[in-house]
Amino acid sequence: MSAHLYAEAHTACRAPADHAAPLPVLGSEVSVPLVTGGEVGYAALDYAASAPALQRVWEDVAAYAPYYGSVHRGAGYLSQLSTDLFEASRRTVAEFLDCRPEDQVVFTRSTTDSLNLLAAALPADCQVFVFETEHHASLLPWRDSPVTWLDAPHSPAAAVAALESALADRDPHGPALVCVTGASNVTGELWPVAELAAAAHAHGARIVLDAAQLAPHHPVSVRELDVDWVAFSGHKLYAPFGSGVLAGRSDWLQRAEPYLAGGGASRTVARAEDGTVQVQWHTGAARHEAGSPNVVGVYAIASACRALTEAGFDGLVAREQALLARVRAGLAQVPQVRVLSLFGDDAPRVGVLSFLVEGWNSSHFAAALSAEYGIGVRDGLFCAHPLVRTLVGGDEHQPGECGGGAANSADRPLNAIRVSFGAGTPDEHIERFVGAVASLVRDGARWRYRTEAGRCVPEL
Ligand code: PMP
Repeated sequence: MSAHLYAEAHTACRAPADHAAPLPVLGSEVSVPLVTGGEVGYAALDYAASAPALQRVWEDVAAYAPYYGSVHRGAGYLSQLSTDLFEASRRTVAEFLDCRPEDQVVFTRSTTDSLNLLAAALPADCQVFVFETEHHASLLPWRDSPVTWLDAPHSPAAAVAALESALADRDPHGPALVCVTGASNVTGELWPVAELAAAAHAHGARIVLDAAQLAPHHPVSVRELDVDWVAFSGHKLYAPFGSGVLAGRSDWLQRAEPYLAGGGASRTVARAEDGTVQVQWHTGAARHEAGSPNVVGVYAIASACRALTEAGFDGLVAREQALLARVRAGLAQVPQVRVLSLFGDDAPRVGVLSFLVEGWNSSHFAAALSAEYGIGVRDGLFCAHPLVRTLVGGDEHQPGECGGGAANSADRPLNAIRVSFGAGTPDEHIERFVGAVASLVRDGARWRYRTEAGRCVPEL
């Protein structure tokens, strides 16, 4: 995180500015049934998993749909048009991320796909440094490389110090990569990305930023943060059409074997005299984009980038921070709620927050929020098992069954509840959530629930 961005988020966190209306998103008119009778407008408070599509993205995709054609493969007018749109989208994304002129934007399926692509492109014996607090998408792709696992730090400064110390111990001549998230998908807390990048570079290492949770909430400048790569997913950036991005330095990507072998990645393929098939692979982004590209997904990402930029991140951040302040203040009124945090109350964060409720199984609590209040949150360990276990600690016990029963055990991992929101969230969803938490804790659930396949579901 650049000092500027970090400070800005910090200020916004403490003193929320007046905020404007939410951006129009799909689904804002959808009503869902309540078990207690009647219907209510659905409160989508699980943006960290997948955000609703921006209305603008949907309209752009719908306007393009009749002109849909193959990309890089057709002589027809619509193929040419689709190819132009695809390549223009690459430029839009590069601009959105404030890339360096020599950076490459590779389109993938998701953040997970992007980080696996980078992992497959690492030079031999590249040493990878990863905090245990990472999402599994950043934690697990480095299977073929030696990995140094870093313990959960308890402040941004401790994260930088831990990385400095680990890097100081490494062989300074070999290649190395640090992988770090910009904003935690569990706590929403911002990581000191610029400082970590400076530490990595001072020790001859490179750094990739997992911006899956950062890019939807904050401007990301590859140049200012001085990261070597950045990865994010369209479906968390209001563009749920199956595309993702890996952007950054091209040298390792160009030296690597194509991520997928097939058409699009291959320039020429011929039978050699010895009967084998010989391939010359493309250079450039195409090398790692084999197969027919997802032009709709890519165009949707570009549309979201434009929409967020035009709406202005200053206003979006201020608005989201105001909602976050309201959630935090509301939860603070309920002593049974414990908000999970690695860096403490004052840490700058995005609109993602996880918590436990004393005496409640989290799955039960989340099920009741949905069934009785029409609020969609997530419960679980959020694909960040080591982090959630660290945050929860070993002595916390939840009822094993809905509403009561056995204590938590090692084979029944403890769940937390996560609420997350963003540019499309109206104040009413936040007010309803805060009110529902207080009511559930005070009065209990109004319905009966049972456990089915390890989850709580309402008795129907
Ligand atoms: N990193 C973080 C921080 C995430 O929150 C997620 C998704 N929850 C991912 C990576 C993986 O994103 P995707 O599922 O789109 O590949």
